[in-house]
Amino acid sequence: MRTFRIKNILVIMMVFTLVMTPRALAPATNANQAKPVKPLNSKTIAIDPGHGGYDPGAIYGNLYEKDINLKIARKLARRLEQKGARVILTRNGDYNYALVGMHGRDAKRYDFDQRIKIIQANNADIVLTIHVNSMRKSSYEGAETFYYPKSSAGKTLALSIQQELRTIPSMTKRIAKVSNCYMLRRTNVPAVLVEVGYLSNKHERELLKDPDYHDLLTQKITAGVIQYFNSPEKITNNGIVQDTTAAVEYVIRAMGNIFLNKEYQGESKQY
Ligand SMILES: [Zn+2]
Repeated sequence: MRTFRIKNILVIMMVFTLVMTPRALAPATNANQAKPVKPLNSKTIAIDPGHGGYDPGAIYGNLYEKDINLKIARKLARRLEQKGARVILTRNGDYNYALVGMHGRDAKRYDFDQRIKIIQANNADIVLTIHVNSMRKSSYEGAETFYYPKSSAGKTLALSIQQELRTIPSMTKRIAKVSNCYMLRRTNVPAVLVEVGYLSNKHERELLKDPDYHDLLTQKITAGVIQYFNSPEKITNNGIVQDTTAAVEYVIRAMGNIFLNKEYQGESKQY
């Protein structure tokens, strides 16, 4: 009888607690709801600033691609972190990972492999490789996003970022393209390479020196990343994607230049 009574009291107390708790916690719950949910919470994003150290990438006068890549990468990191992402930089200074005594292709491959190891060790969800392009022909301008042709998620991410980059006022509206580059091919998560502009073009070179333009680029890349994770159904192929391989593109471009009797050597070199 006594046990029964205690049991009853316990049950009543539990029910009371359950009924009262939500009300008691109500103000705290509302406060939590008022906090904006960050769109990149729980995402890990690797940013790979291209080149570094003895490998400057594209050069124009005293402007080095490696420096611009790092500045943009750091800004992009801050912006993605503000949106809730955990961000990994594959380099955060003027260096690359090649060892003393390594040369040319071997050094480059070793450097790429170390960066890929960092990306994999941190379980990144996506990879953004940042570069600046250069061509012999100075008329080329505009940002371009590249993806590995066998990665459909990479293609979606490239499309999403390219759609956003195209909305920058005065931007030459380029398309998302395929690339077989090592960093994209060897990374086992969706990866894109963003060539933010052409150092060889006078107009774009001035923009690429400007911190405000870096802000704009990182804002657009971030918008593309958020859309990729949160509303991929809005990413459509509005004719801004090219499915041919880089090799096919090279042949087409070279042939076009032969027909036009123009110099084409070095035209397809991607920095
Ligand atoms: Zn480059």
